[in-house]
Amino acid sequence: MSKKEENVDFLCVTCKKYVMPIENGSYRNHCPFCLTSIHVDNKPGDRKSLCKGVMIPSKLVYHGNKGWQIVHLCQKCGEMKVNKIAEGCPQADNWELIIKLSQQN
Ligand SMILES: [Zn+2]
Ligand SMILES: [Zn+2]
Repeated sequence: MSKKEENVDFLCVTCKKYVMPIENGSYRNHCPFCLTSIHVDNKPGDRKSLCKGVMIPSKLVYHGNKGWQIVHLCQKCGEMKVNKIAEGCPQADNWELIIKLSQQN
């Protein structure tokens, strides 16, 4: 697995927007516009899950040195995953949605 393979552009299945890859060392695993994700990983970045369910953002958690993270919940199998928010890059995560999520805790 190389960083290059993980970091690809995609079309969001939920809002149909074009999402560019991230180029700040991190990699994109959710849509910056609507914050939904697809269940493609067993372990972060491996793209080995056969589920492919839509993962919706359920809440925001704060994690010491990693900062704010989105908790995604798979609508198909119920798996929960924690993902770093994308910021300080082109197509950063929709801040208004992040704020809304933070108010759901
Ligand atoms: Zn989207
Ligand atoms: Zn799933």
